[in-house]
Parts: sequence; C-alpha cells; structure tokens
Amino acid sequence: MEITRTPTGTRPGPEHWFTGQVWMEELAAPPSPSRVHALRVHFTPGARTAWHRHGLGQILYVTEGIGLVQRRGAPPEIIRAGDVVWFAPDEDHWHGAAPDHFMTHVAIHELAAPGEVADWGDQVTDDEYLAAPDDH
Ligand code: MN
Repeated sequence: MEITRTPTGTRPGPEHWFTGQVWMEELAAPPSPSRVHALRVHFTPGARTAWHRHGLGQILYVTEGIGLVQRRGAPPEIIRAGDVVWFAPDEDHWHGAAPDHFMTHVAIHELAAPGEVADWGDQVTDDEYLAAPDDH
C-alpha cells in the first residue's frame, strides 16, 4: 500500500498538446506492470487539446465546469460536471473547455508504451472549435 498525501504540483500543459492555458496534475502513475495513468486537467475558457488518439482508449470524468468534446467526423458535444466520456482505442478526438467556462476533468488511460499518453496530431482550429455543438 502507498498513500500519496499530496500529488505532484500543478504544472502548465505542454504547448504542443494544447491551445490556450491548461494546468495539470499527475494523480497516478504506478510502477510496471501497471499501465494505468491518471491526470487532472484544468482548462481555462477556450483552451483545448490538439487532435489525438489513445492506443488503449481513455476515460474522462468531468469534475467542474462546462466543456466540449469532439470525435472525428461528428460535431462537437457539450460535457458538464458529472459526465463520463469514453474514447475507444485510436478514436481521433479532442477535449477542452467551452468558450466562456472553465472545465476540469480527470483523464484515465492505459499507456500503450512507457510514457506514451497519446499520439498527437494537429491543433484544433478556431473554426473547428467554434462549430455549433450538438447539445443534448
Ligand atoms: Mn484524449
């Protein structure tokens, strides 16, 4: 058993992964043979990830605010605190805050290779980001 009393401090998200201001904390990165990895990610209004894929899929648990998610070929969709999103392995997607709201989620995924959270693609353009969301 290992208790981590205060997970690692907040650090800015790498610029090549995100558009806008994003802060993140690593919550869990247990030693091999575990592959699980968990991050808490804070998106400021308008901030979002680049397009990317996770080799073994990803779960998002939205803990605060209002955000947007999009998978390739479908319109953006609104997510709110309490929602859970599953991205299938290799599903091309992005996630972020709404234009006028903060959004925080916990991201849980298995690393397809050591240190490999995702395969990163192009940044999400303003036209893609501002496309009318498919509200529900
Ligand atoms: Mn993702």
